[in-house]
Amino acid sequence: MKVNYAKIFEEEIRKISMLKIKPGLLLHACCAPCASYVLEELRKYFHITVYFFNPNIFPEQEHNRRFSELDTFLKKIDPERSISLIYEKYSPMEFAHCSSGLESEPEGGVRCFQCYDLRLSKTAEKARELKIEYFTTTLTISPHKNSTRINESGGELAGVYGVKYLFSDFKKNNGFKRSAELSREFDLYRQDYCGCEFSTKRSAPE
Ligand code: SF4
Repeated sequence: MKVNYAKIFEEEIRKISMLKIKPGLLLHACCAPCASYVLEELRKYFHITVYFFNPNIFPEQEHNRRFSELDTFLKKIDPERSISLIYEKYSPMEFAHCSSGLESEPEGGVRCFQCYDLRLSKTAEKARELKIEYFTTTLTISPHKNSTRINESGGELAGVYGVKYLFSDFKKNNGFKRSAELSREFDLYRQDYCGCEFSTKRSAPE
């Protein structure tokens, strides 16, 4: 039976909104457009630290551009800097290692599952290190990504690292539409491929 992750998210938010203090959340973000709506929504309920760890992005110039756009966006929406941002140094060998032998997999296949796992496991590990109560990712905003697989991975990693995972399906309830609106409003750089060198042939926006 298909799990409704958007409903699970709503139920968790309902519980959190009754708390007196906002819990901490380490939010893995891949780029500014994907983070835009997710931050608009989550900052009402969490004390957020954004985590940029994306060794999958190719080439390095594109990696740096996406980070820079995210940093600029955060400064615009959060001039008082209540949202922290952690930059993880570009480490393409980590992605090369996990995608080895999977180069010709179609987008959405096993290579992508490895890519989700790599980024989520590092986020969970970092959340544990920083003693942040929750972790999650912006990745479920994209209609090109497998939200079920992302959430399954997050749920498993929560058990491994002892950090709560915030299940989500951010594209639902007009989330993807809102991210497109915010991208236009803030004139955000919106890449036309997912990130790795094997995804550069697609020409639909993330
Ligand atoms: S297509 Fe995207 S999710 Fe899949 S492996 Fe490449 S960068 Fe990762």
